[in-house]
Amino acid sequence: MLLNQTESDNERMTQRSVTEYGYQDLEKLMSLMTGDEKHSFSATSTLDVIWTLYDSVLKIDPANPQAPDRDRFFLSKGHGPMAYYAVLAAKGLIAVDDLKHWGEFDSSFGYHPDGELIPAVEIGTGSLGHGLGIGVGMLMGLRLRKQNEPRVFCLIGDAELDEGSNHEAIAMAARMRLENLTAIVIDNNSASLGWPGGIATRFENEGWSSATIDGRNHEDIKTALTQSHPGVPHVVVAKVEEK
Ligand SMILES: [Mg+2]
Repeated sequence: MLLNQTESDNERMTQRSVTEYGYQDLEKLMSLMTGDEKHSFSATSTLDVIWTLYDSVLKIDPANPQAPDRDRFFLSKGHGPMAYYAVLAAKGLIAVDDLKHWGEFDSSFGYHPDGELIPAVEIGTGSLGHGLGIGVGMLMGLRLRKQNEPRVFCLIGDAELDEGSNHEAIAMAARMRLENLTAIVIDNNSASLGWPGGIATRFENEGWSSATIDGRNHEDIKTALTQSHPGVPHVVVAKVEEK
């Protein structure tokens, strides 16, 4: 809870209608969640990208979050999901009241998001290095079903690129010309090993298009996430402050 926030503030937060929530409310929504402070930095490094995705990029209907033609968002970096949950609540995809119970024994909202328990969450994540590969597989499956509309946006951390599974997915996505795939790398310069030429170059060498942007600038984020990339997957490297 914020220092100057009271229990009645929290009640008022819970009782507002979804259309009233904006970016300025996310900090208060996140403050309803306590108990995972060790991941608080990881939670907020993703905040502006996730907000922009749900505010102006993703085609997802809160009244029907599992519609077959929806866009898919995977928080591959599943630890520290506070920003994710806060944005889902602000957009009416989960109840604001659920935030107050996260991490409790009988809550669906754990410290790692669970796609089996929360309809608005696509996949269970937290163990790193799985999201991009699942995204490739999902788009291959959609292609077989001749569903060409859904797009997959997969958010990973710069240190998550140390997981070798990502590199199979990076190569595969380009060979299969998965133009509906966008990877977003939140780069706070935390990787142990790094990549020669930088993160974007790692993807470009396999045939991806890329954009490297300020991960706190909503206009830059929206432009990078909506730019055309026919025939190839796209990566957005979103730079944020170092931990
Ligand atoms: Mg990082």
